[in-house]
Amino acid sequence: MSEVLNLPCYIDGRPIFSDETIAVHYPYDGQLVGSVPILSGHDLNSAIETAIRGGPTLNRYQRYEVLERTKRLLADKSEEFAQLIRRESGLCMQETRYEVSRALDVLMFSAIEALRDDGQIFSCDTSPRAKDRKIFTMREPLRLVVAITPFNHPLNQVAHKVAPAIAAGAPLILKPSEKTPLTAIKFVELLYEAGLPPWMLSVVMGPIDEFVEPMVRDERVDLVSFTGSASVGKRIASIAGYKKICLELGGHSPLIVLEDADLALAARLAAEGCFRNSGQRCTAIRRLLIEETVVDEFTDRFLREVSSYTCGDPADERTRVGTVINAAAAQRLEAMVQATVEAGGRILAGGKRVNALLEPTVIENTPRASILAKCEAFGPLAPIMPVKDLEDAIELSNATPYGLSCGVVTTNMKSAIRAVQGVRAGTVNVNEVPGFRIECSPFGGVKDSGLGIKEGVIEAMKFMSTVKTYSLPWS
Ligand code: NAP
Repeated sequence: MSEVLNLPCYIDGRPIFSDETIAVHYPYDGQLVGSVPILSGHDLNSAIETAIRGGPTLNRYQRYEVLERTKRLLADKSEEFAQLIRRESGLCMQETRYEVSRALDVLMFSAIEALRDDGQIFSCDTSPRAKDRKIFTMREPLRLVVAITPFNHPLNQVAHKVAPAIAAGAPLILKPSEKTPLTAIKFVELLYEAGLPPWMLSVVMGPIDEFVEPMVRDERVDLVSFTGSASVGKRIASIAGYKKICLELGGHSPLIVLEDADLALAARLAAEGCFRNSGQRCTAIRRLLIEETVVDEFTDRFLREVSSYTCGDPADERTRVGTVINAAAAQRLEAMVQATVEAGGRILAGGKRVNALLEPTVIENTPRASILAKCEAFGPLAPIMPVKDLEDAIELSNATPYGLSCGVVTTNMKSAIRAVQGVRAGTVNVNEVPGFRIECSPFGGVKDSGLGIKEGVIEAMKFMSTVKTYSLPWS
């Protein structure tokens, strides 16, 4: 029997408990994993004032040191974190260990970027109106960032907001998902242990209407950095007022497979993109757009790949697909599959559900007007849709409200470039899954997937700071 973690929130490094709590249960068997307190409006004010008041600041090297130390502490506790992520999310161990390794990368890149000089110099004798001066720029951290994160990457999404804020020197209040708050709070404890001045980071939980929305509206907040669903992102955009917002929202990413593709590669990428992280990635493949001349051969190869994605007990080392976040989410996915079958699709593999565990499910001949072809289904589903040619695939790729990412499998450079140019999305990867990235490369979507403002360590740091321009009378 695993330990039950009743964790506090933290404001200015002080643990805050409350009589009212949120319980966290293991999606696989319903066991209690732990709880976190529900804070009040008074606590919200105290968290905001702590950050605005400020405290000891860190120079570049000290920020580097905190991030590096946190990385070492996390590496030492990587198995403990991987087990905790499994228990609160139901993701299998292969995925939760991968999640921790990604967070280590985020810390590494943030530490490196903390050291990098961020100024520019402009000589002023470069036009007919020359002056004997130089213009310089420097970056100044925002006074307060609020970060709101989703459940599907309980550690990595948090790291992607907190680590760049530390590297940029901006104080941050974190509101993690109520479904997976324990990993986030444990991560905050590591950062304090690594020497982060407590005023620079608070972690809070509270009711949406009385706590979270007032925090989003608060005029003392400079930036709301949100990752989550499009509906909540649009709500935030409508209430945030005059401040920066970074919205990383849902997706409906296609994998386009052309007839000249390496079909073994295409089948492997399709399985990885549809089923990794139980299909709960914003960049997961939601549609397999296969050129009709190769759809049969692709499907045969794909089904062989799918059979190796064993679904079951998340703690079993052989499991490759654990649960989705809860039974209600699995039921919604099941209903979406059912509706797609009623519209003319046919289940080729999977389809069975036990509580929050849903088998990797392949649906062939998914109709273009069906719910799976249009709406984000956040789980391990693989709808196959035949397309006539690349132009048809591009048109279909662009036919949802989302624009996050896309993968194209082809051996033809001209087709690859045409897809890069034609698909309206934040990322297009050739011969890779739509979600391929490294933690410092620019990442983020357009349309209902986001406002085109990127994350990834480097871009996040830029958005968490402002450029000050100054000039001196010397050249
Ligand atoms: P969600 O329901 O939108 O929740 C995300 C966060 O927003 C949670 O912390 C939630 O708090 C909070 N929240 C809910 N209502 C709010 C409001 N009115 N104002 C401010 N915050 C509010 O998303 P989710 O179900 O956790 O995550 C899945 C979604 O995230 C999918 O659509 C996925 O595609 C998207 N996602 C996008 C990216 C990306 O980078 N583009 C990455 C990962 C996930 P509570 O938990 O307390 O309700």
